[in-house]
Amino acid sequence: MERIQEIDFQDQRLIPIWERVQRGERIERKEGLLLFQTWDLMALGKMADFAKRKKISGLSGLNGDVAYFIIDRQINPTNICVYTCKFCDFAVRPWDEKAYEMTLQEILSKLSPEIREVHIVGGLHPKWKFDQYLNILREIKVHFPTIQIKAWTAVEIAFFSKIAKIPVEKVFERLLDAGLNTMPGGGAEVFSERVRQALFKQKIGAKDWLRIHRIAHGMGIRTNATLLYGHMETYEERVDHLVKLRELQDETGGFLTFIPLTFQPGHTGLVKRQASALEDLRTLAASRLLLDNFPHIKAYWVMLGEDTAGVGLHFGADDIAGTIGEERIAHAALAKSPVGLTRERLLEMIRGAGRTPVERDTYFNILRVYNGHHIPPPWPRVGRV
Ligand code: SF4
Repeated sequence: MERIQEIDFQDQRLIPIWERVQRGERIERKEGLLLFQTWDLMALGKMADFAKRKKISGLSGLNGDVAYFIIDRQINPTNICVYTCKFCDFAVRPWDEKAYEMTLQEILSKLSPEIREVHIVGGLHPKWKFDQYLNILREIKVHFPTIQIKAWTAVEIAFFSKIAKIPVEKVFERLLDAGLNTMPGGGAEVFSERVRQALFKQKIGAKDWLRIHRIAHGMGIRTNATLLYGHMETYEERVDHLVKLRELQDETGGFLTFIPLTFQPGHTGLVKRQASALEDLRTLAASRLLLDNFPHIKAYWVMLGEDTAGVGLHFGADDIAGTIGEERIAHAALAKSPVGLTRERLLEMIRGAGRTPVERDTYFNILRVYNGHHIPPPWPRVGRV
């Protein structure tokens, strides 16, 4: 049973929302907007922390103090991309001096058996065939059968469907045969046609992104979801994005985690500076409260920075991401965080935030609870949708 805490509200408009949260009722669009507009950040954090504790204890049987992490490795097989999204500092043209294409041997050399999940996303290469992308998964499964593969965003799935001239369902069939476990949540950016036209008009919009995830869920594939914020989107557009994700989750139940991604301005010139830590914490908390049907909310240390991610564990987040190994996308946009972290550093961050570290797999199955815990294994198992 979660304890009901007293909150000293500075912004009285939040009180009816808090009453709804305590009763386990859904927050509507208008209230969601207030979560982004309020100046009462501490009350917002406390409400989100309450919702997170309740969610996690309901899901795992662990108490709500835990924070998940994973031993993972990010692989970005190429940065060559046929598109030119205005917010992207990662993609280059084939003739650019920074252009690279990893060979299968290079990809395999980055992996080792203790890695639990490999996260693969990259550019849309003008010459690679769909088979080349499939081979990456096949080879990983042959050499590292215990590694779970989280690969290719909905934007990449749409691209594979186009280059292979097959429907999305067939793309997924082949990816599953090749060893796909789960899908990352990137490519959604923000579900606003206004922003898409301005920043990434070559990429699929909300309708197709949601359609592809719906198909994935229907085929048993668990996926994740993101929101890119801190560029030109409005609070109304953030709320609309979250509500659309919530609606699809009501329908399918296939999402595992939501990851708010704070925009890294890099060399894009779109905004002068990255969103503030306050804005990051507000977005984490509002996401936890609005996405009442999402199991997990991630404080992605790569973009937030280690300190804000740690504080985020008190603002509704229950996951701090993983070791990553070698992050390239945010760092092409001058992210200040390290390119990877050790298990020890993640444990230190989680413990430093007063949380109990829980090591997980790609499905959020619990592999180990650190610091001891009163709930003995086996813990509940999660798998395909
Ligand atoms: S965001 Fe993705 S699709 Fe757009 S240019 Fe960058 S790598 Fe290519």
